[in-house]
Amino acid sequence: MSSSAPSLLTQARLPRWSLPAAWPMQGAQPMLADLRLRDGCIEAITPHTGARADGWNLHGAPVLPGLVEAHTHIDKAFTLSRLGALKPGLLAAIETMIADRLTWTVADVHERASRCLQWAFEAGVVKLRTHCDWWEPQGTPLAWNVLRELGEEWVDRIALERVSLIALQLFSERDGARSLAKTVAASGPGACLGAFVHSTNWSAQSLRHLFEAAEEFGLDVDLHCDEELNPQAEGLATTAALLREMAFGGRVVCGHTCALAAQSEAQALATLDAVAAAPITMVSLPTTNLLLQDAQTGRTPRQRGLTLVKEARARGIPLLISTDNVQDAFCRAGSFDPVEALAVGALAAQLEQPFDEWSEAICRGDWLTRHPNTPPLQAGAVADLVIFGAADAHGWPTRAQSRVVLRAGRVASGSVPARWTETTETTP
Ligand SMILES: [Zn+2]
Repeated sequence: MSSSAPSLLTQARLPRWSLPAAWPMQGAQPMLADLRLRDGCIEAITPHTGARADGWNLHGAPVLPGLVEAHTHIDKAFTLSRLGALKPGLLAAIETMIADRLTWTVADVHERASRCLQWAFEAGVVKLRTHCDWWEPQGTPLAWNVLRELGEEWVDRIALERVSLIALQLFSERDGARSLAKTVAASGPGACLGAFVHSTNWSAQSLRHLFEAAEEFGLDVDLHCDEELNPQAEGLATTAALLREMAFGGRVVCGHTCALAAQSEAQALATLDAVAAAPITMVSLPTTNLLLQDAQTGRTPRQRGLTLVKEARARGIPLLISTDNVQDAFCRAGSFDPVEALAVGALAAQLEQPFDEWSEAICRGDWLTRHPNTPPLQAGAVADLVIFGAADAHGWPTRAQSRVVLRAGRVASGSVPARWTETTETTP
């Protein structure tokens, strides 16, 4: 049995993005916070007063709400050990996975995907969205059904969402698009309609069919969009235009959008202006972009492949950072720890203030929903907290591996440092 956290956590360092504008500052830093917990929820968050208190004294440890993995592939993860030698680049990896997929069984997918969820849970993830390779014009892939069952198995620990990762050409006929959307919509909760949108399979008409079908069956959409450095790629710009024209009612997540980084500044920024006016959430996958973009054997990559994360956030576009592939043909790195993905992004994209500003990109699960307006870490929210006991807010995510994960106020992972419970006079 997990143990319960005390009802009071003092001297927590919360990220600036989560605090109200009027929160007092200590120099350039937000004042430390005291969190009062009750019945598994956060009852109150107040500036630390310095009064002697029971409970845990976190001594300024950075604290985040439960983490979000916005974009993973747990159907493919942990296949690397059986794949043999790999060719570089995104399209070669796709070919390798198509061949491996023929060997998948229910037990194989269940074992590998369960391992993913366990790793994510231990990292503090409360919500995980996975894509699922889908090449069937009719019927559902074997892994799709396994993932649906895993969603039920894990319902008390991780909210598991599934995206059908379908080649865009399967939406070329309106009837085919409707049939796919109908199948996805009928497959239980947590399902989104998805597609792989790339200049090698580009069709504006197919994309239109996809959105029409999603609208008809009440589905949100999640696209692998412009995952390439071809400046001609127009998936994101066309998506923004189509959603506006259709007054699309759902949320559309556009993952990767690497091509923005290869386009002229004026073109890329005009596209982002259109995205900001549409119900679009962007997801950046720094680890796989670094590994798969501008990738050739024997040649040092010159381009980083990251989308324009700063320009997107400057326009108020919801943008999440996530892990993508782990130990498969696409990527040997990763551990379903969004903090690790953010650490890569912080270096690759030169993100200032990873804790106070950019940790929002691994915490805002509401940015994947139709009405993103419920930030976590508020009074009344479930006490799902990730406490980084060995880190500080200046250097975070350095030394962020060590953490205590609370779920509904109980210790779910990690061990509580002795110094949190030592009774000493606290100082403001
Ligand atoms: Zn992906």
